[in-house]
Amino acid sequence: MADPYGFLKHSRAEAKKRPVSERLGDWDEVYLDVEPDVRDSQVRTQASRCMDCGVPFCHSGSAGCPLGNLIPEWNDLVRRGDWGQASERLHATNNFPEFTGRLCPAPCEAACVLSISHDAGGPVAIKRVEQTIADVSWEQGLVQPSQSQVVSGRRVAVVGSGPAGLAAAQQLTRAGHEVTVFERDDRLGGLLRYGIPEFKMEKKVLDRRLAQLRKEGTRFVTGCEVGVDLTVEELREEFDAVVLAVGALRGRDDTTTPGRELAGIHLAMEHLVPANRACEGDGAPAIDAAGKHVVIIGGGDTGADCYGTAARQGAASVLQLDQYPMPPSRRDDERSPWPVWPWVLRTYPAHEEAGERKFAVAVEKFVGDEDGHVRQIQLRKVRVERDASGRRVVVPMSEEVELLPADLVLLAIGFEGVEHMPLLDGLGIDLTSRGTVSCGSDWQTQAPGVFVCGDAHRGASLVVWAIAEGRSVANAVDRFLTGSSDLPSPVIPN
Ligand code: SF4
Repeated sequence: MADPYGFLKHSRAEAKKRPVSERLGDWDEVYLDVEPDVRDSQVRTQASRCMDCGVPFCHSGSAGCPLGNLIPEWNDLVRRGDWGQASERLHATNNFPEFTGRLCPAPCEAACVLSISHDAGGPVAIKRVEQTIADVSWEQGLVQPSQSQVVSGRRVAVVGSGPAGLAAAQQLTRAGHEVTVFERDDRLGGLLRYGIPEFKMEKKVLDRRLAQLRKEGTRFVTGCEVGVDLTVEELREEFDAVVLAVGALRGRDDTTTPGRELAGIHLAMEHLVPANRACEGDGAPAIDAAGKHVVIIGGGDTGADCYGTAARQGAASVLQLDQYPMPPSRRDDERSPWPVWPWVLRTYPAHEEAGERKFAVAVEKFVGDEDGHVRQIQLRKVRVERDASGRRVVVPMSEEVELLPADLVLLAIGFEGVEHMPLLDGLGIDLTSRGTVSCGSDWQTQAPGVFVCGDAHRGASLVVWAIAEGRSVANAVDRFLTGSSDLPSPVIPN
């Protein structure tokens, strides 16, 4: 039984980070390594703040955890120091809690009842508890391969090895199917490998989980673009079902701002992928921020990843721009069910490391030198409004403009859906107006026996949604192949 007064006795406390000067000298994760017994004791205290609400908003629903993580249950197990049971309950709903514990922006914490009032001391540190359970699970050897006791004789191809594809593959392998994951890149992991910087999640965290999947029987093929290296005919002939988990990596470009054609202006992923490859030992990145004045356009997660990456590469300055105003003005959001919607401004550890953020501004011109390379941005204060048709419009708010140095501009303004690929053409699958692959209530696309999950279906989203969709599509494929399924299905297609 949880302590209903725990939050009155203990304040919320985040995990401590390493000093910025140290962080900028390497690519390791930003959080301080503390002695396991100290860490465990601190996290038990944090878990004891959970009230075990009668209706735990953190656990599921429109604002809580898409995976339906059993948060109050494992909070109480951690409070009591029962890491073994906590690990079991955490893995019951989440294949990869070490990924979500590090990468998820924690909608569960925003939904926690203790978020309502500052007097309550802030939400339970759910993400910290989750990551610690996951880390303790690995340290204590609690994470073991789980081999299926049945063999269905059915073969499934999963295209894409990001979190959605890996979750689907693990679930289907454990259900007894013969699963092969195809990855067009040279290494596995998709965005987890080449999109997410090491300082947020070190690749060894991914690699140990991949080793578990291999031991369970999932097969992996890298350097294979399905639809090209393996034809659609071969795919259909060799496999009884196909899961598309190809992501939504088509970066949104800026097609209107004068000067966009100048050298030195790139999409965010053109910066992040080579930087991640450099960490894997693939040589110096093609786009390096060292010594440059870096401007990042876009205030989201990807922009923050560029921010920390540029700082570590030795940028002369880093500036991140957001068209939206700095909260708390967004607290007036009328869609919010809470008296005060907590933590609207997302701040990442990278923002402590260098540089500056500017809000309610937009670049109206890129200014180049005589060699055609960007050297400045022209900035103006703006307000974002909706026009009569509901379209977003950016309205200038000042006559004044500001000229700022910019040798490297990174566009982190979102993604427009699935990249164009021969596989989709070969399968006869059309994209929606959002650039995603649609499906029916059974996750099946317009191509029979071909299913979709993750960003390819949902559009660029959170790692927790990718895992939730991967688990759900596994249930659908299992039912398609065998007529029924005991696999969980935490979410339905949108
Ligand atoms: Fe615990 Fe917060 Fe969830 Fe309530 S909403 S059960 S306090 S984590």
